[in-house]
Amino acid sequence: VKEIFETMDYGPAPESAADALAWLVDQGSAFGHFINGKFTAPSEGFDSKNPANGETLAQLSQATQTDVDTAVKAARSAQKKWAALPGHNRARYLYAIARLVQKHSRLFAVLETLDNGKPIRESRDIDIPLVHRHFYYHAGMAQLMDSELPDREALGVCGQIIPWNFPLLMLAWKVAPAIAMGNTVVLKPAEYTSLTALLFADICRQAGLPKGVVNIVTGDGAVGEMIVNHEDIDKIAFTGSTSVGRKIREATAGSGKALTLELGGKSPYVVFEDADIDSAIEGLVDAIWFNQGQVCCAGSRLLVQEGIADRFYAKLKARMDGLRLGNPLDKCIDVGAIVDPVQLKTITDLVESNTDGEIYRAGATIPAEGCFYPPTLITGLSTASKLMQEEIFGPVLCSMTFRTPAEAVEIANNTRYGLAATLWTENVNLALDIAPKLTAGVVWVNATNLFDAAAGFGGVRESGFGREGGWEGLAAYTKPKGSTKALTKAEPFMGEDGPVD
Ligand code: NAD
Repeated sequence: VKEIFETMDYGPAPESAADALAWLVDQGSAFGHFINGKFTAPSEGFDSKNPANGETLAQLSQATQTDVDTAVKAARSAQKKWAALPGHNRARYLYAIARLVQKHSRLFAVLETLDNGKPIRESRDIDIPLVHRHFYYHAGMAQLMDSELPDREALGVCGQIIPWNFPLLMLAWKVAPAIAMGNTVVLKPAEYTSLTALLFADICRQAGLPKGVVNIVTGDGAVGEMIVNHEDIDKIAFTGSTSVGRKIREATAGSGKALTLELGGKSPYVVFEDADIDSAIEGLVDAIWFNQGQVCCAGSRLLVQEGIADRFYAKLKARMDGLRLGNPLDKCIDVGAIVDPVQLKTITDLVESNTDGEIYRAGATIPAEGCFYPPTLITGLSTASKLMQEEIFGPVLCSMTFRTPAEAVEIANNTRYGLAATLWTENVNLALDIAPKLTAGVVWVNATNLFDAAAGFGGVRESGFGREGGWEGLAAYTKPKGSTKALTKAEPFMGEDGPVD
């Protein structure tokens, strides 16, 4: 099969899709769920498509309530034994998973790019290396658990729901700390991008991970709801939109389930007039055009100090015109495809509904087919503009100017979100003064999008609560030893005349 694909012309891409396509064909191009250490037979479901050309890559199954129940049951029956293993024994499995992801990193990277539309350079050089780094780090933490966290124990069975923008990386952020601490999981990838999760399931099998420790069910939001409402799940970990996060918080309130929410953002990118402008512009390319702007912490609100605004915008527009947009498998591409026509329409509608400011679109040629949107800059907006307030989740940079540092802080904090912020200045005193005044889970100075498995990541306000990564991320998958599980169903309060509502 690989030979057949090698002779096919799959676009001008130097990176061959042959191995990944052959892997899909080897699996029958149709997937069931991964439950209790094996794949179920494929059932009725939906197509997974390549957003760069609309081609169907595979058929995926929509999980039923019975599938979710079976997965939770498998996770439950594996959990006690898994948690009872000494940390260094669990670590061996995490190390094996990390090494296998590393060994198959090219296959993972190409599959991710085919399924999601992100440039191969990003999946190969950023996403997949961060994934194995995450498993290596948490293997180490599993090993240290007995000595460093002697008073804590696993929560139990964790339901994990993830978005489509960093499919395998979001899986790693969820699965690695959970299983390192002795939990078992039922994970649902996003419906647009489930393929690398299914390849990961195969990696768990190859690593000899005990059955039931990791279970993966596919499907849309209805499957997510089944997980959220399941009575035998101890914790829900969700990454996705603020609107769905709100529903999940309501659904879990009073249920006794632990909850962490990693939600949306509208992060400010503040450039002071003493900044190194060229570096700040390169930072912006990373902040808003990395992954086509489909990044929760994207620096999507550019605030430029008035004195340099004209010069800065002129240089920025020239840089935008140099961005190469096209086939995500092409190693020279800067901007790939938007994940799905639905997301493309959301971006287009939001930008078209805007009546303020001045719009500039990069000169890149848009491919005739596929989901593409050009890098876009909208200047002259005000804090009240819809585009300064709403998360677009696309390659659209919204901008306004400020006069003083105090005004920059005021505008930066004028948002319902609080995930990340970036400051650009050569004046360290200014940076140290401003950073703590910003309402954000992380503030980057003269840099952007810095992630590490050892550093907790998460937001405040409507960007969610809880942290992933680092010690805080580990704590979120444990509870004090000996604590009991809260009741899942409230007992009626008995008054003198019977139960009281
Ligand atoms: P989404 O909320 O639409 O979907 C996320 C996941 O939730 C998917 O798997 C989906 O099937 C599932 N889901 C949908 N409805 C559900 C329901 N009612 N109950 C349970 N599960 C349900 O988000 P998306 O469009 O996939 O992702 C984009 C969003 O994710 C953006 O807002 C982005 O900012 C956010 N995000 C946040 C972080 C972070 O770390 N804070 C990271 C990545 C993405």
